[in-house]
Amino acid sequence: MRSRRSDHPSRKVVVIGAGITGLVAARELVRRSAEVVVLEAAPRTGGKVRTEVVEGATVETGPDSFVTLKPEMLELVKELGMQDELVCTAPDPTVSIYKDGCLVPLPAGMNLVSPTKLLPFAFSTLFSMRGKLRMALEPLLPVGKGLEDESLADFARRRLGTEALDVLVGPMLAGIYAGDPEKMSIKSTFPQLLDMEKRGGLVKSMWLGGPKRARREGITTFMTIKNGLSRVIAALERSLPAGTVRTDCPAQAVRRHGGRWEVVTPQGVFEADAIVAAAPAPALADAVEGLDPELAIRLREIPFVSTATTTLIYDAATFPKLPKGFGFLIPRESGSTLSAATYSSSKFPARSPEGKVVIRAFVGGAGREEPAEGSLTRIEERVREDLHKVLGIKGVSPIAAKTARWIKGNPQYNVGHVRRLERLGSCLKSHPGLILAGCSYWGVGLPDCVRSGRRAAELASSVRSGREHDAVRAGLA
Ligand SMILES: Cc1cc2nc3c(=O)[nH]c(=O)nc-3n(C[C@H](O)[C@H](O)[C@H](O)COP(=O)(O)OP(=O)(O)OC[C@H]3O[C@@H](n4cnc5c(N)ncnc54)[C@H](O)[C@@H]3O)c2cc1C
Repeated sequence: MRSRRSDHPSRKVVVIGAGITGLVAARELVRRSAEVVVLEAAPRTGGKVRTEVVEGATVETGPDSFVTLKPEMLELVKELGMQDELVCTAPDPTVSIYKDGCLVPLPAGMNLVSPTKLLPFAFSTLFSMRGKLRMALEPLLPVGKGLEDESLADFARRRLGTEALDVLVGPMLAGIYAGDPEKMSIKSTFPQLLDMEKRGGLVKSMWLGGPKRARREGITTFMTIKNGLSRVIAALERSLPAGTVRTDCPAQAVRRHGGRWEVVTPQGVFEADAIVAAAPAPALADAVEGLDPELAIRLREIPFVSTATTTLIYDAATFPKLPKGFGFLIPRESGSTLSAATYSSSKFPARSPEGKVVIRAFVGGAGREEPAEGSLTRIEERVREDLHKVLGIKGVSPIAAKTARWIKGNPQYNVGHVRRLERLGSCLKSHPGLILAGCSYWGVGLPDCVRSGRRAAELASSVRSGREHDAVRAGLA
């Protein structure tokens, strides 16, 4: 593994972590003629992306789909020649909120967190009259001034009122990040809401902008891959030269030696001109502790919380009719183990076999991690209990279940996240060629990770060419 530089004239890059970010970076680096090795701590690649087949159903234990409004993931799927495997969502995207012991559908025309259709909003039982009037005042409110950053909860209370925060904004938006709305940074999680505020308010922006959004043929807001997102991981891996990815090979230490980088692993020391570090921030902190304790501290400043998913599969013949739509969200005040559930067999019918009802439930997140950190059996029991209560089901048992825990697996972009990244960027100035990428920094969704992986490859490629020197020095992709 150790080699004299003159033996290998092409740029050598070590990628740490074979999640989607690391694999996208590796593919892009190979396309740029770099010599790449990907080090993966786990016995398998994919990181959070993990598909299994249970009772003939495609079960995702991590992400189950991706948003197409950010184009990077859709583009990647097409580049990999997998467009025929793309699956759209079913036509009825209704989502319900569990309120006062009932599932209440979001009124038609709700766009993000604003109503765009007057009548369904006016007649909805989701909000009280007082709550509706408070939301209706939103276009008249002044733009918030002098705030460097603000929590999602403060923003929502300020613009839409407390009821909208509890019933709508918390479950819908905080759920995406498994976050606590009182802590989440609006600037780092939903900057588009700040833009809308500046353009005359959320309601006005949604009225003007929402319905006009161009609908493209064969594209829905959320899409997935018929036989699972792990197919994308497999295709990425196939696009790399044989032997590029080393599994069971954790990066234990990152260090400088003779002007080059070295990554210490149980399989030996790997030398490189640049490193794309695409492992989550806390894991990376351990590896860079000896190199730069301050950098390790900065990486540990990004908090992570635990979540779990449980997928339950039922025989449709014995299962009562599912409510309409894609699933439901549960406000955190309800005290339920569940934060949300997706009717997977309704949302993506192509991924479930005939005669089966497939429901995927979410557990945990900021401020309610305890249930997600229990044993797999206990999580499943609690999910089953709460799910049956919400759906009003009695005397029916699933024929199969699959639970996965993601202990400290979800990064939190809390208030001050941008400042934390700036401090991290300052530390990285002392380490040219060390590029940080992935879900810990600029976005948690799959499209964000694809963009980050690509950007990291671009930065790593320019290390020896001398281009983009400043960007490389502040290597946060
Ligand atoms: C339950 C759940 C549901 C989600 N749902 C969605 C969704 O529907 N849509 C969506 O867009 N996003 C979703 N996300 C978010 C998205 O899945 C992740 O943000 C994304 O997959 C992260 O990719 P990554 O490559 O940055 O990190 P990871 O997937 O975490 O990959 C990092 C890799 O680094 C490895 N590693 C760690 N330490 C080391 C080390 N020392 N040396 C070498 N390797 C190391 C890990 O084993 C892992 O393989 C979900 C996330 C979770 C947890």
